[in-house]
Amino acid sequence: MALKYRRIMLKLSGETLMGDQQYGIDPNMLEYYTKQIKELIDIGVEVAVVIGGGNIFRGLSAAESGIERTQGDYMGMLATVINGMALQSMMETHGVYTRLISAIEMQQIAEPYIRRRAIRHLEKGRVVIFSAGTGNPYFTTDSAAALRANEIDADVILKGTRVDGIYSADPEKDPTATKYDRISFREVLNKNLRVMDQAAFALCAENNLPIIVFDINEPANLRKIMFGEPVGTLVTN
Ligand code: UDP
Repeated sequence: MALKYRRIMLKLSGETLMGDQQYGIDPNMLEYYTKQIKELIDIGVEVAVVIGGGNIFRGLSAAESGIERTQGDYMGMLATVINGMALQSMMETHGVYTRLISAIEMQQIAEPYIRRRAIRHLEKGRVVIFSAGTGNPYFTTDSAAALRANEIDADVILKGTRVDGIYSADPEKDPTATKYDRISFREVLNKNLRVMDQAAFALCAENNLPIIVFDINEPANLRKIMFGEPVGTLVTN
């Protein structure tokens, strides 16, 4: 069977890294992601990952407690580097070659972001983990995923979540909510559905970059997506 996507951007939120914990990194989740990603590398997919930091720190929530917003945002970006380091290490333990890139310079632990170099890593079959978000406060790691995905010319953004796609309403609150298998960018905006933050979403819509929102906790999903099986919700123009 032919691969539907050759180069993907996988967005993993920090929150899913917590597993059942209230805070921090659950090593079982790290291992789970590692195995999922390894499967993709083994079938020849080029994998870029943007990792979030919400399991450790979020600038916006910190702002409520008196930490300046921008300072908090930088702290949030550093949190994504911690997650990235953890994921990198677990992947290398499992024999997957990786490169950790940071949008904020941290030479001792991560490479600086150089677009052509990142692409070269992907071509060589290394998993490229983008950390520190966009390197700018007032953004999110969704924006980083959208930005880098466009820059490296990824075929699709895969947004791994705890729900199995985009619903007409919040399925955890509204039992009548129905799931979309496919939806257009315009419809998402018209119906005011939440997929990614607006900046990230606009970047994908403008550049015709499809997004698939799917349940990351369902082990077969990523593989199915690679072979074009309908999983989650596909957002296209
Ligand atoms: N952040 C930022 N700029 C970026 C990416 C992230 O300022 O480009 C900060 C922001 O404070 C955010 C935190 O880092 O709350 C963690 O990222 P995010 O909330 O996107 O993580 P996730 O929700 O995916 O766990």
